[in-house]
Amino acid sequence: MSPNSTIRAAWLQGPGVQCDGEVAASSSTPWRLVLLGAPGVGKGTQADLLGERLGACHLSTGDVFRAAGSRGDCEQSPAMREALGYMRSGALVPDSTVWEMVRERVGCLRCGGGFILDGFPRTLGQAESLRALLDSEGLGLTAVVNYELPVSEIVARLGGRRTCENCKTVFHVTDRPPKTEGRCDRCDGKLFQREDDRPESIKVRLKAYDLSTAPLIEFYQKAGLLVRVAATGTPDEILEITQTDLKSRRAAQLAG
Ligand code: AMP
Repeated sequence: MSPNSTIRAAWLQGPGVQCDGEVAASSSTPWRLVLLGAPGVGKGTQADLLGERLGACHLSTGDVFRAAGSRGDCEQSPAMREALGYMRSGALVPDSTVWEMVRERVGCLRCGGGFILDGFPRTLGQAESLRALLDSEGLGLTAVVNYELPVSEIVARLGGRRTCENCKTVFHVTDRPPKTEGRCDRCDGKLFQREDDRPESIKVRLKAYDLSTAPLIEFYQKAGLLVRVAATGTPDEILEITQTDLKSRRAAQLAG
């Protein structure tokens, strides 16, 4: 198991699970990031890569729902069963359910190693709640990265995406193929296609993004936090651009 997946256990499984203290190294200047962008733009891949580079933990709300979905029915609360129904159709899970889940995991937001939120917030209501929570904890976001890509490319990316059922690493059949077909490079877990990456769900997800999530770009622009990155090129190229932009932004913050 990679260090990051050990840390992520607390996020994926909930407040009853502790992080490995030695792995979750604190940083004097932790990165606290939000990644925005339409589904399929590559946020999950970038969150993983950035997590490795910056030492911050990749926190994906979608991964929490999928982890709950892979447990037995009787281990799921009624709210979680309802949430999984929304997820399978590609629709957004209600704010109250998502917020409950994030609030329970506030320890991951307080973590001295920092965090990279992927897939949250997704509505203005969630963004307001996050801002209030971070304010009350005396924490601030370092930046919000918005990954930008034309719709035609988004659809191609979603259709070819494959995820490891074990450590959740994301691959793509043509853009980021695993070394062995159908197996994860990191943990040799089996790769699968997400139910919500089917064409009918993709349409619903893109509509939900336009309606609910796109307005967050303006929200974070006004807050002076937005960094725009064109999500074209290889994952490593996109990572380099993101890191360069983030580091120059941080240098400017420190100088100012
Ligand atoms: P993702 O892996 O981020 O694309 O999320 C997969 C699915 O989980 C979404 O299509 C939603 O159904 C649900 N989901 C994840 N995060 C959120 C969120 N912040 N708000 C509402 N629904 C969410």
